[in-house]
Parts: sequence; C-alpha cells; structure tokens
Amino acid sequence: MGKTLNTEAIVLTRTDVGEEDRILTFLTRRYGLLKAAASGARNLKGGRTAPLDLFVRSRIQFHVSSKPGKLCRIRSVDVVDPYLEIREDYNRLCAASYMAEEAAHCVQEADPSEGIFDLLASCFDQLRHRDGTYSVLFIFETRLMRELGMAPEMSNCVICGREMTGKAAVSPQEGGLLHPDCSPGGDLKELESGDLAIMRFVAQRRLQALDRLKIDDASAVRLYRAVHSFAIHHLGFEPKTVKTLPPI
Ligand SMILES: [Zn+2]
Repeated sequence: MGKTLNTEAIVLTRTDVGEEDRILTFLTRRYGLLKAAASGARNLKGGRTAPLDLFVRSRIQFHVSSKPGKLCRIRSVDVVDPYLEIREDYNRLCAASYMAEEAAHCVQEADPSEGIFDLLASCFDQLRHRDGTYSVLFIFETRLMRELGMAPEMSNCVICGREMTGKAAVSPQEGGLLHPDCSPGGDLKELESGDLAIMRFVAQRRLQALDRLKIDDASAVRLYRAVHSFAIHHLGFEPKTVKTLPPI
C-alpha cells in the first residue's frame, strides 16, 4: 500500500549504495525535498539522456510506502529538460552544484516549494545562456532570499532612512542597503552606481523578465558578493561548493 505522488522534480544529489542501488535527493515542485531509491525504476523516458543524472528535470511518479522510514520508489520518469550543457562545462557544473546545495538546505521535506523549484529551473536555464556564472548566482541568491521572506531592504537606507540612490553598501547585520557615508563600519560590500537598479530589477520583476537582463562581469561579481554576504548571514549557512566557484 502507500500512495503515489506525481510532480516535476530536479535531481539535486545522487549517492551510490552498493553496486546497483542509488539514492537520489530531488527538489520537487509540489512536495519539497524527496529522497528516493532508484533501484527498480522502470519506464524511464529521456531520449538520449540518462533520466536520473544530476540536475535533470523530469516529471516523476513516486511511490511512497505506508511503512515509516522507507524510501520512496521511482515508478516512472519523463524528462522535461536534461540541462546537458551544464554537465558539459566545469564552471557551469560547479555553479549548478552550489545552487542545488543551497536549495537543498532551504527546502524541507513535504515543504511546498514551487517558487524555489521554478527559480532553480530558471537559473539552470540561464546558466547555459549566460557567459559568466556569477550573474546567475547573484540572481539565484537574490530571489532565494525573496522566496524565503528574507529580502534585504533596498528602498531606503537602513541607517538614515533616506532614499537609496547612486552608490550603496550592503549590511547583512543591519538588514539591507545603506549610503556609504552612513556606514557603521564592519565588512560591508560596496556597490557602484547602476548596480542598485540591477539589484532592484532582479528582486522585483517576474522571473521570466530576468532572462534577457544584461549584467557585465564586474557588476555581477560585486552584486554576487553583496547578496552572498547577506544570504550566508541570514541563512546561517554557506554551501561547501562555494570553494569550487571561479576565483573573484
Ligand atoms: Zn543613509
């Protein structure tokens, strides 16, 4: 007995157990994180793609046992997007691993996670179209904080309360942006004029509107460092895979 769950899912991690078995962690669109055993999976539809490869996005039918503590089983897999270009490029692969690790930390089992699922899928898609990976990581962490209700204050300076324009600095401790002149000291990440508009655009617009947003490499790195310092302070967590990202 048990029940059947149908949902879109992305493979976040794979662990081999013994010679034939494999345990996979999925970020699912409807049921949060789900761990499943891959052994015995039948009806795998992926064309030339191995349907249970890392980061593949599929429609999956899971079987959940009624016995507590038993892993889900995978009944069928129908690949939606294999994101092949990600696994063929080392920097993209590292960036995807980083986002997958962060998503896995922020979503719980049985936690509704449509927004984070759609964000991860969108960022995987952008990884193959954009030249630099830091623009994608900046977009991912900015939107992740929004999905978690932890977005930084961006309209007004968190110290003096006046409107933010021009150059800015990000203070994780104070919870948002401030004028460089209002700086209380500490490890602040500074943003140039123009960065602020990009940050607001990314934080506020629809996900689909971000596909064609141009971000030059220098801005992408500044914005990523600022948002990343904010994210790790508020999440209390930094992905281990941060060490694999290209040096900045
Ligand atoms: Zn101020």
